[in-house]
Amino acid sequence: MHEFTCGHQECSSQFTSHDKDNLMQQVADHLKDAHNVQTATQTLLGYLEATCVKSTSDR
Ligand SMILES: [Zn+2]
Repeated sequence: MHEFTCGHQECSSQFTSHDKDNLMQQVADHLKDAHNVQTATQTLLGYLEATCVKSTSDR
């Protein structure tokens, strides 16, 4: 399970998904809707993945 917690100030949105690609798509959509980031670059997503995503094994 992958869990994203938005690190933006005063935004504590969380998303979870079993599929990291799916999760990062949700993150990209969230950036667009909530933070006015029209284009989430791979660099930005990679940064967010490293800093805001926790991955746990739920097997
Ligand atoms: Zn956010």
